[in-house]
Amino acid sequence: MPKCVFCQIVADKLPADKVAENEQALAFNDVNPKAPIHVLVVPKTHRQRPEELSHEEAAALFRLADVVAEKSGIRQSGFRLVINVGKHAGQEVEHVHLHVLGGRQSTGIF
Ligand code: AMP
Repeated sequence: MPKCVFCQIVADKLPADKVAENEQALAFNDVNPKAPIHVLVVPKTHRQRPEELSHEEAAALFRLADVVAEKSGIRQSGFRLVINVGKHAGQEVEHVHLHVLGGRQSTGIF
């Protein structure tokens, strides 16, 4: 069994509230949401850092984020995409993921 929690979700070894998927990416609700809509979009292949993504994987992540926004009803009102990289950003799971955050007005970046 892979150690990485998101790899386990991709492999259906761990339950998740899936929202959408495409060939290269999977989207599921964050277990500890920080906004009314908080979905994680992850590459199906383990990648620790954003620069490890192929162009196709990166495009697949952003396209799926758009599908998630549409499905969640926040595409028109707007949403924030966040990628935490490393310790100072508070990255907890070392598998690249886009946070799709929306459903209320955001304030500053931090
Ligand atoms: P980050 O701090 O950018 O690494 O974000 C990791 C996110 O993954 C956090 O918002 C967690 O709440 C979320 N998370 C951790 N484990 C799970 C899980 N099993 N299912 C869904 N979300 C998770």
